[in-house]
Amino acid sequence: MPDGALKSGAYRAFTARDIDAIPQLAALSADARLRLRAVAQVLPFRVNAYVLEHLIDWSRAPDDPIYQLTIPQPEMLADADLSALVDLVRSGGEAELQARARAIQLAMNPHPAGQIDLNVPIEAGVERRGLQHKYRQTVLFFPAQGQTCHAYCTYCFRWAQFVGLDDLKFAAREAETLVEYLEQHPEVTDVLFTGGDPLVMRTSVLRRYVEPLLRADLPHLAHIRFGTKALAYWPARFLTDPDADDLLRLFGEIQAAGKHVAVMAHYSHPRELAPPAAAAALQRVRDSGAVVRCQAPLVRRVNDDPAVWADLWRTQVRLGAVPYYMFIERDTGPKEYFKVPLARALQIYQGAYRQLSGLCRSVRGPSMSATPGKILVDGVTEIEGKPYFVLRMLQGRNPEWVGRIFLAEYDPDAAWVSELRPAFGAPDFFYADELAELSRRRARVRLDMLGATPATEA
Ligand SMILES: *Cc1c(COP(=O)(O)O)cnc(C)c1O
Ligand code: SF4
Repeated sequence: MPDGALKSGAYRAFTARDIDAIPQLAALSADARLRLRAVAQVLPFRVNAYVLEHLIDWSRAPDDPIYQLTIPQPEMLADADLSALVDLVRSGGEAELQARARAIQLAMNPHPAGQIDLNVPIEAGVERRGLQHKYRQTVLFFPAQGQTCHAYCTYCFRWAQFVGLDDLKFAAREAETLVEYLEQHPEVTDVLFTGGDPLVMRTSVLRRYVEPLLRADLPHLAHIRFGTKALAYWPARFLTDPDADDLLRLFGEIQAAGKHVAVMAHYSHPRELAPPAAAAALQRVRDSGAVVRCQAPLVRRVNDDPAVWADLWRTQVRLGAVPYYMFIERDTGPKEYFKVPLARALQIYQGAYRQLSGLCRSVRGPSMSATPGKILVDGVTEIEGKPYFVLRMLQGRNPEWVGRIFLAEYDPDAAWVSELRPAFGAPDFFYADELAELSRRRARVRLDMLGATPATEA
């Protein structure tokens, strides 16, 4: 791939099987490549020529943030696991290797925050696989062909889908499911296409999902969102791919049908906006009338620095995009490797926020997408000489929870809401009882559903 992905045009991915074919990795020792192959048995690995040539600064690897973002690192696994895998890769014990890798994956909390247990709708005894409906206004849709990405992020909270933990995968086969569901749910204003990355689908395939939404009688559906990292990982999707023009035309058609298009762009680092192709791709999306809103998690070794976020948000606004969310990295996968304590996350957020004008302050964070909802760490306050975290529910499984402020004991090491203790010795946070009741109700519905299926033989 010496001549630049954009010139040569065609997309080419490299996966765990092609590690030796990646020219830039030839500089690594044979041992280091072996370790990479071992880690890639457990964590997803996929890069493409554009990421390798235009985003990673190889003179700084392995510390380079984009290298850390896309290349799995040996330290992401426990020493014992890593050396066992390395031995198995070396000895070629394929079945044993797979079994060991699977066991490690299952120990890494592959499915956090009740995504399937609580979010996948069950109606009339039928589970709507491929949909998630957690917050009243917004339905997430996981089109079957969009369950991969142009490259994988090492910190991805959806990593379990990419390593073939099949029972955890959600994928809708048909657009009718979505239309039907929306017809029955007039409270829904937003559909968010997600994945993986829905823009790995060819535009003609994407049309099979979008066009039925436009043809159906869904006056309450006002916003169609596409969650994507293609603007960062594969700008050719909007520029030179054979169906790039058709994608932008589709965005126009959605707007002509009276709906707003939001591209929810995942940018982890300002480097992703530096190549001319990246800025040109963003400009083309804006020219289509779609609004680009930007979000990413805060991740150690990738972007745990206020200067990086200030640069990121400033650049986004300069290019006409809107900073939207800064997330706390979820409690899944190699979280120990990436985690940033909440107290530090707040310092980074505020350190960046304070440098910027109001135009950049559309961003909200740091926010945890936790089981009850999106929980914002809003600040630290002092009451009678003691510090507390001020938390705010930005989005709630129960809409009544939205906007609630609540306090937790200050803990400099806590990195997720599950590690926080409610202030003043309260036994639980305000939502705990209701959430537990919701989970019990769901468990009963699930049992009923299974009972109704012939597959569960006595
Ligand atoms: C974040 C999120 C949404 C969208 O929330 P907005 O605040 O409207 O952007 C929808 N569903 C789930 C499950 C989410 O995590
Ligand atoms: S682009 Fe999104 S879905 Fe794909 S690997 Fe990265 S975080 Fe995960």
